[in-house]
Formats: sequence, C-alpha cells, structure tokens
Amino acid sequence: PVANPPSDVIAAIATAPGRGGIGVVRLSGPNLSALAAGFCGREPQARLAQFARFRDGSGGLIDEGLLLYFPAPHSFTGEDVIELQGHGGPVVMQMLLARCLELGARLAQPGEFTRRAFLNGKLDLAQAESVADLIEASTAAAARSAVRSLTGSFSKEVHALCERLIDLRMLVEATLDFPDEDVDFLIEAKAFERIEVVATELRAILDRARQGSLLRNGLHVVLVGQPNVGKSSLLNRLAGEERAIVTDIAGTTRDVLRETIQIEGIPLHITDTAGLRDTTDEVEKIGIARTWQEIERADVVVRLVDVRAGLTAADADIDVRLPAGVERITVFNKVDLADRAPERVETRSDGKRGVSLYLSAKAGQGVDLLRAELLRVAGWHRHGEDVILARERHLIALREALARVEAALEARQALELMAEELRLAQEAINSLTGEFTPDDLLGVIFSRFCIGK
Ligand code: GDP
Ligand code: ZN
Repeated sequence: PVANPPSDVIAAIATAPGRGGIGVVRLSGPNLSALAAGFCGREPQARLAQFARFRDGSGGLIDEGLLLYFPAPHSFTGEDVIELQGHGGPVVMQMLLARCLELGARLAQPGEFTRRAFLNGKLDLAQAESVADLIEASTAAAARSAVRSLTGSFSKEVHALCERLIDLRMLVEATLDFPDEDVDFLIEAKAFERIEVVATELRAILDRARQGSLLRNGLHVVLVGQPNVGKSSLLNRLAGEERAIVTDIAGTTRDVLRETIQIEGIPLHITDTAGLRDTTDEVEKIGIARTWQEIERADVVVRLVDVRAGLTAADADIDVRLPAGVERITVFNKVDLADRAPERVETRSDGKRGVSLYLSAKAGQGVDLLRAELLRVAGWHRHGEDVILARERHLIALREALARVEAALEARQALELMAEELRLAQEAINSLTGEFTPDDLLGVIFSRFCIGK
C-alpha cells in the first residue's frame, strides 16, 4: 500500500519509444518518498540504486528493476525525483506508467521536467534549450556545441555582458541624477570606450551564433539549369550515392528530389530540379513551376551549364529572375569532355560579383571546389569549439542588443536617450537566459520539447 502522493506529481516514460534493454519512467513532484517506499518496500535511500518490485494495484508483479530517489533540492528538477528503471518494452513501460498515474501522478507535458528545472533555478533558459538541442543534435559538432551551452559557457558570457551593461547604466544614470555632472564625467570614466567594447563583444558573439545557426539549420541549396547539363549527376556525386535518376534523355528529372548531405558538419539540403527550359509538355511545366518555388526558399542557387555549350539565353534569364538575397554559383560542368582543368574563376558582370567553377560531376574532378564554395557563401569560417548553437530567438535578441548599444553610442548628446537604449540592450540580453522572459514565451519554448524531458 502506498500513501496518497500529493497532487502535483508528474510522470513520463523518459526513454525513447520502442524496445531496449532498459526503460525509464521518471517522476517529479513534492514528497515522493512514500511513493518510492511503496515500490522498494522500505524507506528509499537518497541517490542510491535500489532493487525494487513494481506491482500493480492488486499486488501483481509488473516488472522488477531499480529505483533511484533524488530528494529535493538535489535533483534535475529541484523537486523530489524518482526514476524507475525497468525492462525496456513498450507494454511494460506503459503498465508502469499507468501504475504511477493510479498512484496520483499525472502525465507530464512535453518539456515539463526541464521547465520545472528552469522555474526552480536549476538551469537558465539558454541551458534548458540546450537540453533539447543536445538530444536533437544531428551532427557531432552540434552535440558538442549543445553540451557546452548546457554546462553554462554561453550563459556565463551573457552574464558578463549583462554586468557590463549594468555598470554602464549606473554611470549614465548617475550623470543624469546629478545636474552638476555632464558628458565630461562620462568621458573621464571612459564610458563611451566601454560601450564600444560591449558592441565589439556583441558582434563577436553574434558571429559565433550565426555559425551555430548554420550548424543547426544548414543551408538550402537548389540545383538549376537546362535539361541534361548534369544536375542529377552532381547531386549523386555530392551525396555519394545513386539517388537521383541519371539518363541521357533530356527532361528526365521532372519532379524535385531532395538530399541532405554534410560538409564539415554543416547540413546541406540539396534539391535537384526539373530543367528550366521553355516547354509545351504539361508535366514538365509543372516541374518547372515547382523549381521556381524551390528557388524562392533557397539560400544558394547552383546554376549548371554544359561547358561545351556555354551560357545560353535561358541561363542568363535564370540569373535575372533570381530573388535578391539568394547566393549564386555558376558551374560549368563536363570539363572532362572539353579537355579543361577544374578551376575557380571570379567574375563580374553588371557590377555583380560572381563565382564560376569548372568541374566534372561525372568524373568527380573539381567537385571539392564546389564543396568549398558552398561553405564560403554560407559564411562558414569557424572550425573551433566556440560556435554557439543559436536558435532564431537568440539571433533576434543578440541583434536587438547590438542595435541598442549602437544607438546608445549615437545618443551621446542626449544622455536620457542613451540610458534608455542601454536599458533596452540589457533587457534583450537578459531574455537569452530567461531573466525577463514572459510566460507565454516560456510556454512556446518548452512545448517544443518531447515528453519525458
Ligand atoms: P540533368 O538533366 O541536368 O539532371 O543531367 P543528368 O545528370 O541526368 O546528366 C545528363 C547526362 O550527362 C548523363 O548521361 C550523364 O552521365 C552526363 N553527364 C553529367 N555530368 C557529366 C560530366 O561531368 N561529364 C560527362 N562526360 N558526362 C556527364
Ligand atoms: Zn536530372
């Protein structure tokens, strides 16, 4: 018999669905020792793996395994936490979870464990987000970056910036409060230089965050060009597999094909498209319309040309119709047939800078030039450990903080305005770690977690 646990206990299966050697049901809430005692038959010891028999309401054995009891506040959530480690079958786990609900727990919402950890001051918001990032990381580089954030290295930098802003605000506001003091006082205190330093640091952090955002989201690359220039061959070459259909008949790739590859840990989402040419074929027309939709969403468009034919009027037309802000690389393919060496050439036409690459998709010569070029246009230049696995939310806050600090520098003739800009900069910085984050935003952030986290 188990004493009635208090109402606000949450429970969830913490391990991934499916079958495994072990499976874990996790509970968090106040006063869980009685519930734990019910499972292991005696007063549970803190932070010690204990043998337990998990029984249903009528005493029937569900499973046997280990019980871990972490009394508050020394637990992940800061509340009492229990982990029930049983055998990792979906049915066993469901039965064990059902028993916990019977004993008064309720099913946890997605991210609710981490949310409680945040609310109890165990993690700040940036760290809480990195829990999800670590679990979702799709490359080793992303995982390493997430675990650094989790252990607080990003948060530490954010706090340091925040301290500096607070000092500066105190200086400026003191100047405002004492009418005798004026700008000279701030000049003497090197306030403007110090704001400049904050701006420089913010720019550096933003750059590292942009690198992290690339690592997280990757780059959308679209291959376009006339039929038969070698788009599908190039995709296959980049992907290292026979994924797209390669044929000698012009117009084979009528629909779009997608492939995600990695270059230096950056995910590249590459789309092969129908050849962009004038046609009367209805099916091909649909493919071409789709191609333009893909181009609208691209970060980089790789325009392929058969080196023997050179740029055609239709290729020039593609260029004119490309949306602003999309990077463009021109590839002259099939150099093996033209007896040319692979090469990278910088071009300039109508005042627009461009890059042309000469390569062979089929033979593979020069394809490394394309890989390097894709990373270059993506702005990838960090190979060190200091990238920040930023979310869109972080980029927005960092950009906002930088804009405010820059505005503060421009407002040196109007100290009240300067004080206000510094206050807003600090607010933006604080939102990174959750110090000024409204509840509705917290709801959005934690609802993206999966259950059991
Ligand atoms: P797409 O219509 O633009 O997708 O072109 P494909 O990739 O289907 O290629 C059309 C034809 O050109 C195929 O027979 C390919 O084998 C050939 N091809 C593609 N790239 C090269 C290349 O670099 N060298 C040579 N010799 N043939 C190529
Ligand atoms: Zn194709």
